Amino acid sequence: MKLTSYWLETAPSFTASPIAALPGSVDAVVVGGGFSGLSAALRLRQLGASVVLLERERVVGEASGRNGGHVNNGLAGSFSFACKNLGVDKATSLYRVFNAAVDAVETVVRDNAIDCDFERCGKLKVGNLQAHRAALLSDYEKLQKEADPDVKFIDGQQIRSELASDLFNSGLIYPQSARMHMGRFGVGLAQSVMKAGGLIFENTPMTGIKSGKGGFEVSTPHGRIFAKNVLMATGTSRHGPSWFRQRIMPVGSFIVATEPMDATTLEQVMPGGRNVVTMQNIHNYFRATADNRLIFGGRASFSRSRTTTDIASGHMLLAAMRRTLPALPDVKIDYCWGGDVDMTVDRLPRAGQWNGVYYTMGYSGHGTQMSVYMGQRMAEAMSGMPSTNPLAGRSWPKIPFYGLASHFLPVVGAYYRAKDYVQNLEP
Ligand SMILES: Cc1cc2nc3c(=O)[nH]c(=O)nc-3n(C[C@H](O)[C@H](O)[C@H](O)COP(=O)(O)OP(=O)(O)OC[C@H]3O[C@@H](n4cnc5c(N)ncnc54)[C@H](O)[C@@H]3O)c2cc1C
Repeated sequence: MKLTSYWLETAPSFTASPIAALPGSVDAVVVGGGFSGLSAALRLRQLGASVVLLERERVVGEASGRNGGHVNNGLAGSFSFACKNLGVDKATSLYRVFNAAVDAVETVVRDNAIDCDFERCGKLKVGNLQAHRAALLSDYEKLQKEADPDVKFIDGQQIRSELASDLFNSGLIYPQSARMHMGRFGVGLAQSVMKAGGLIFENTPMTGIKSGKGGFEVSTPHGRIFAKNVLMATGTSRHGPSWFRQRIMPVGSFIVATEPMDATTLEQVMPGGRNVVTMQNIHNYFRATADNRLIFGGRASFSRSRTTTDIASGHMLLAAMRRTLPALPDVKIDYCWGGDVDMTVDRLPRAGQWNGVYYTMGYSGHGTQMSVYMGQRMAEAMSGMPSTNPLAGRSWPKIPFYGLASHFLPVVGAYYRAKDYVQNLEP
């Protein structure tokens, strides 16, 4: 079992700009080489701005290259809950933004001829408790009425036509959801930025930022750059201004990729061929790849050391995979990896300006589509176009005791695991 991301390991190589090409001034500096930053850099070039992208390590080396590979529409949480909290109009427009975000990914793939197996496979959200069934039905009715007449509620034998498992009693299908090879998409996007005339520097962190006359002075270990505008697209934002760190909690999520199977075996296990998301408190997400592997993810070990955590998580996910899909033959795990999700308290992303610096982040595990979409919107805002930022004006308070929050994760994890165990005993 390799402790590396399948997406990164099987992506083409990428050659960044040579350090000697670092310019002294530029229209825009984009900090962060994940999907948000790359998408913003591409749009900035299309709008005629000179642009430098600074990446601390390698492009798409963090969440963008380490995720579950789902490009799902729909909100991360329940639509009915969002209607209660935000009001029907706001919840509906947010839901539509996620649809637009999936469309944006598809357009980027097509316009830049990125070879990444993009496919509209649909998402299946499945429940195993009576409470899940009730929640899915409520979402279905609300979505049909307000936001998405294409969603479909299934139960009983219909579940069997999607998944060879007796674990689930109900499901909601979102046909607009998609998937792709994340490493090939990310590298393709980075190559498109370079082709459009953008500069990308890897192993070049932003180490400081000062506002000055008409812009910002951005420090890197290789020199300073003066920029009219700066976009922070730094994901969990552990390495940068503390204002962002105080608002985002990095929460680990883990993934395994099986060895390739023959196509019929996988089709028998997942006849629906969709991205699947379960509804337990410690939930799982899975999908097939173009080379017939199963990519299976979830919150696994809550311990805080990286390598031991990855190995322990691999074993926990394998057990969860066997429980969830008992029809799966005895397959080997080829890859196991983890990544940090940029979690906000309400699981909704944030994008706007802080002291004149633009930012977009906080997608809370539901961001392969929104990062691409929001990168484009923030590039437009930086270019002086009328704001089309759908997240403008959302308040973003500090996480209480943010420094301590991650220390409590193992306790929180144990609590939710115990809760799942007790709930699963329901008659
Ligand atoms: C394990 C896991 C599974 C997930 N599964 C899914 C999924 O199936 N579907 C879905 O929609 N979403 C999923 N997500 C979330 C999704 O991957 C992210 O929301 C999205 O990729 C965020 O992109 P980003 O560009 O904003 O951030 P990132 O990809 O994290 O990129 C931020 C970049 O900024 C760089 N950086 C940070 N600080 C600095 C600095 N000071 N200077 C220079 N560079 C800096 C980092 O090195 C990093 O490369 C998952 C996330 C994880 C971790």
